[in-house]
Amino acid sequence: MNQILADRLKHLQDSIGQACARAGRSEKSVRLVIVTKTAPPELVKDVIRLGGVELGESRAQRLTQIAAEINTFLSENADQPDIPKAVHWHMIGHLQRNKVKTILKHCRMIQSVDTLRLAEEINTCAYKMGIHTDILLQVNCSGEPQKYGVPVGASLHLAEQIATMPNLRLTGLMTMAPLTKEADRVRACFARAKEVFEDIRAEKIAGAKFKHLSMGMSQDYQIAIEEGATMLRIGSALFA
Ligand SMILES: *Cc1c(COP(=O)(O)O)cnc(C)c1O
Repeated sequence: MNQILADRLKHLQDSIGQACARAGRSEKSVRLVIVTKTAPPELVKDVIRLGGVELGESRAQRLTQIAAEINTFLSENADQPDIPKAVHWHMIGHLQRNKVKTILKHCRMIQSVDTLRLAEEINTCAYKMGIHTDILLQVNCSGEPQKYGVPVGASLHLAEQIATMPNLRLTGLMTMAPLTKEADRVRACFARAKEVFEDIRAEKIAGAKFKHLSMGMSQDYQIAIEEGATMLRIGSALFA
């Protein structure tokens, strides 16, 4: 057992629980996606042994490689009680259209959909594979021009377009806070994302399955919980 990782995970889960309590929210209302992009495969296996099944990667090539390696690991250890039957991979980083095909069969969810063309490519590939893919619309709430994500003002319209694509399931929004230590700016960004999230729900654009608000990383997950995150994406707090 990897005791250091076990301690970090326990500490993180306790801290998430405390933030939920402060915000008057149930712990069950917040899901943790463990971002493994900096972790060597052995550490990814350790975190799976500790119960991590929702895993995130930000680069397509790494996702296909690590997912394949972990699949082998899971099937070779299928008789062990602490090894789950399957894990779920989330694509959380910028995705080029020519990489969609290679990651699709490994992905439970693509969180970084921010253009019509990317959504169309995922829909086409999913159709050819005979599957439906869960996606999140990535919204740029920081206003920083270099960041990926659809601008807030264009997000409802893009959500409407995506909601018509038969092989996509639009299940929520994802956003990233600006790179800053100013908590007020981080909070304003998350609050903005929550507003867009509630607008899309109120307009009934994607129905009841639209329920995930993915925001909050190692540095800012407590603020994200206070502002209504339902999904956190955390890496360095566990693996740094
Ligand atoms: C790396 C990454 C994370 C995790 O960030 P940490 O600071 O390591 O917790 C979350 N979301 C995205 C999109 C990332 O690329």
